[in-house]
Amino acid sequence: MAQVRSKVLGIDLGTTNSCTAIIELGEPKVITNSEGKRLTPSVVGFSKKNELLVGELAKRQIVSNPENSVQSIKRYMGKPDYRVPLNNEHYTPHGISAMILQKLKVDAEKYLGDAVGKAVITVPAYFNDSQRFATKKAGEMAGLDVLRVINEPTAAALAYGLRDGVQDQKILVYDLGGGTFDVSILKIKHGVFEVLATCGDTELGGDDFDRKIVDYLLSEFKEAEGTDLSENVEAMQRIKEAAERCKVDLSSLMTANVDLPYISENKRLDMEVSREQFEAMTEDLVNKTISIMEKSLKDAGLSPQDIDEVILVGGSTRIPAVAKRVEDFMEKSPLQSINPDEVVAMGAAVQAGILGNEYLKSSGNQQVDSGNLVLLDVTSLTLGFETVGDTTAFIIPRNTTIPTRNSKVFTTHYDNQEVVRGKILQGEEQEASKNVALGTIILENIPPSLKGVPRIEVTFDIDANGIINATARDLATGNMRSVTIERPAGLND
Ligand code: AMP
Repeated sequence: MAQVRSKVLGIDLGTTNSCTAIIELGEPKVITNSEGKRLTPSVVGFSKKNELLVGELAKRQIVSNPENSVQSIKRYMGKPDYRVPLNNEHYTPHGISAMILQKLKVDAEKYLGDAVGKAVITVPAYFNDSQRFATKKAGEMAGLDVLRVINEPTAAALAYGLRDGVQDQKILVYDLGGGTFDVSILKIKHGVFEVLATCGDTELGGDDFDRKIVDYLLSEFKEAEGTDLSENVEAMQRIKEAAERCKVDLSSLMTANVDLPYISENKRLDMEVSREQFEAMTEDLVNKTISIMEKSLKDAGLSPQDIDEVILVGGSTRIPAVAKRVEDFMEKSPLQSINPDEVVAMGAAVQAGILGNEYLKSSGNQQVDSGNLVLLDVTSLTLGFETVGDTTAFIIPRNTTIPTRNSKVFTTHYDNQEVVRGKILQGEEQEASKNVALGTIILENIPPSLKGVPRIEVTFDIDANGIINATARDLATGNMRSVTIERPAGLND
């Protein structure tokens, strides 16, 4: 007898907002948080009385207590030396993310009336090993057993049930959130997902659309009243919030009003913005996303006609002009029946249900044979090993489908060398120091011999989470050697 409700939580840990979902009666369902909302702002802070605040409460105090608030921490995930000063302490990015995940876990437990111990967490397709590792670590720190870290576009496709077609399907996922933009192209066949290309801009999102309205309001106000509000911190905060509300209103109305009394002394900021004006001022932002979409198609060697489905993800795809431009460019109506800010969490829940062996409804209402669903992604950057003279030995080329493994043979470079030490590198540069070092491999206890004689096979494997493991073997003796991947020190708890 199948369980009615799965115990594995699907989590979209977003830059701006996070969302959780679970499988109930075979279908993904979004969980409401303790404030009664379906989205939880990814914001952490401490109140003036030293209470930890996460989500809506933390977002509300950003203005009044900015030095004790942190937002958009996802941008810093996996950066080993980055610390957030908060409440007289210094927190790691995954430590902050763990606080968000803990709130999501506690709220889900309240909603379900039951303990939640396991989760699937989504990450952008371009996240590297350190960023994925840090995400998994954050989950563990929040008391979650992270069964799988999956790509956000893959989750979006799963939410739309695009998983078990017999024919090759090519899917383009257009994801415009609060602060970031991503395009991913996936190929799905027999339940196997492959990422063909990912492109994006980590500094382009809904915030930029808000800023256009802010700039417009500031210049209109200056012209009418002769006052420049841009240096007035409190007025600017009110204008920013009003601009976001105005933008959201313009997704359903043709004109929206911004009315801010006492914005500066006795002056009132009272203006109307039409959808037409908004579309004119944000046209360059939309154009930018279209060029990135063009580039991703080029990278995948495809044209718009080759794409079977287009999926819209992220709150900013609710802007009518955005959806329209994507539709015109792709010559196809995009899938947007699932809320774009919830679709990733819903897909994470589908993957959670599959891993938890849950009953899942498919389009034909039959149980999905979850054993057949293998998720495959590709590595976005080449993986290599540092050798003598600051050179890189490439081991796994970019765009290899994961899980994958590959080996190369190395040797010693002086007599009686007992230890080989080298960096694991991510990047395309021949000069080792120009690539990103993910960690160090240390191979000890090599038997004494002349230089160049030992043959040490270094193997990298990338698991289904995109996390790297390494082993080394002495080919002369066949002995496996101890290998330590020293993660950057900053990735400890
Ligand atoms: P996400 O990161 O997916 O949660 O998206 C957050 C962004 O979506 C923010 O910039 C919001 O202002 C924006 N957003 C949410 N709803 C709407 C809407 N109805 N129209 C326009 N933008 C929206």
